[in-house]
Amino acid sequence: MKHIVAFFCVFYIFSGLVFSQQSLIKPDLHPPLEIPLYLSGTFGELRSDHFHAGVDLRTQTVEGHKVLAVDDGYVSRIAISTGGYGKALYITHPSTGLTSVYGHLQRFNKEIGEYVKAKQYALQSFQVNLFPEAARLVVKKGELIALSGNTGSSGGPHLHFEIRDTPSQQIMNPLSFGLKIKDYIRPKIVEIAVYPENDSAFILGENKRYISSVAGWGEQHRLPANEPLTVWGELSFGINTYDTHNDTPNKNGVYSIELMIDSTIVFSMAMDRFSFDETLYINSLIDYGYYIQNNTRFIRTKIDPLNKLSLYGDMPHTGSYSFMEEREYTGCYTVTDHHGNISKLPFTLVAQKPLIDTADTEVATDSTVLVQASEGYSYKEQSFSYSIPARALYKDERLTQYKIRQNTYLSDVICIGDEKIPLHKAIQLHINIPELSLPEEKLLVVSLKNDKPPVPLGVKIENGTISLKTRKFGCFAIMADTLPPQIRQKNAFQDTLTDSVTLLRFEIEDELSGIGSYRAELNDNWLLMEYDPKTKTLFYEVDERLTKGKNTFKLIVTDKQGNASVFRKTFIKL
Ligand SMILES: [Zn+2]
Repeated sequence: MKHIVAFFCVFYIFSGLVFSQQSLIKPDLHPPLEIPLYLSGTFGELRSDHFHAGVDLRTQTVEGHKVLAVDDGYVSRIAISTGGYGKALYITHPSTGLTSVYGHLQRFNKEIGEYVKAKQYALQSFQVNLFPEAARLVVKKGELIALSGNTGSSGGPHLHFEIRDTPSQQIMNPLSFGLKIKDYIRPKIVEIAVYPENDSAFILGENKRYISSVAGWGEQHRLPANEPLTVWGELSFGINTYDTHNDTPNKNGVYSIELMIDSTIVFSMAMDRFSFDETLYINSLIDYGYYIQNNTRFIRTKIDPLNKLSLYGDMPHTGSYSFMEEREYTGCYTVTDHHGNISKLPFTLVAQKPLIDTADTEVATDSTVLVQASEGYSYKEQSFSYSIPARALYKDERLTQYKIRQNTYLSDVICIGDEKIPLHKAIQLHINIPELSLPEEKLLVVSLKNDKPPVPLGVKIENGTISLKTRKFGCFAIMADTLPPQIRQKNAFQDTLTDSVTLLRFEIEDELSGIGSYRAELNDNWLLMEYDPKTKTLFYEVDERLTKGKNTFKLIVTDKQGNASVFRKTFIKL
């Protein structure tokens, strides 16, 4: 019987995809790196609050590899930011309607670098967002455009590479454009989950999430005991899966997932293209509560009512299935990677009408309120108020709110909702400022999580009220930051500076609110310094502005609450 299950494990989407790939004209791109391509991240991979918008290409754990234009085109945007993609280049390719994006760069080529530096000095800002005219910075296919780096929110040296459809700005899977990656390895299915969709649905006699480990590999994946799952009622499913490629240890995202029950497609999705404005739906796609508690992501089959993600295929039953006949059902998960390596998990479900057909559900208490996702909710009391906008929740949820009096913070700790419930839009929270002997501009709100340091949130202060927007439920309290940032000189230069010093390097740090801004001056003129928050490093790359003889240097670093520190030095350049 079990072998017959595997036999029926058919797979629909893959043939469909081959067809759609052939129907599009996709140019073969020049590789963006000279070294062999290995992926440490795939397109659509599940990340914190977003789907990965490109591929991450390994750079042998070092910076400085040559980054090459993948096709003829022109530089249409240059973005430099202390977070996100760090130093990023956008190249528009008019002949194909595509834009390629290169992120976390260490530096640009000479021509682009000089263009950027002139703009930075004109704007007096390290962070810039530039849109050069089409004829200004033209590039050829295979031309050196930059060196790879680790700038912005990068967890180690690599190249983030993206392909966008220029008119729609949708991001597309770069692997569909002829990049050569060696991958003969099938995806791995780690675990599956089964969820009751209401209180008369059961898995192994219980009305709660059931998780099973998965044994085997490739087409031979199976539930460990090979026993059928006893079920009843309307259920949805979840899968924990990843992909690996040859000669590299990274656990990457898979390309497609499909779940069949008998001959019905319960779930299908494929990582082909999506828009940036739908990336937050990831928190509705995954079992968000389980992820918050266990840091493991299950891709759920159930589509929440307010989830508009476009990565789903046609799914007649929005991802759940009714097991209401006393018989055997056959389930089959099929997972593929972009190279067409397929893994399957066939399993048997036996529907058995339970003796008690409704589970005891938790009794609603006075402290909880049922919030309709389509309507939102507002609450006001003496010391605080908040509002959840309409369509901020993916489905109706029962929420709690309470406050705790204590002395560590300058206000009560106010707790709203449940951190295990995702939000698609920010909630607005207002806290009345208590009587304090502190200037209001030093106040901020922090979000509090067990055992973790308080996280500062951006606030607005008006008429004795401190307000903020946040997209995470949790606990909040008022704190104050009256301490200025610290400035530490890292390459000690004294009264004289020799030619061997090519960088003036500082470490800057602020304890609570964080670095807000900095300004450096050399001989009373604004000086470009690069800032990397993850290493707390601020540096000036010595150039012609540092002249022989006497120089004065001044650095002012201000935190987000307006506390400032100043560093001054006068020295002789030999
Ligand atoms: Zn990336």
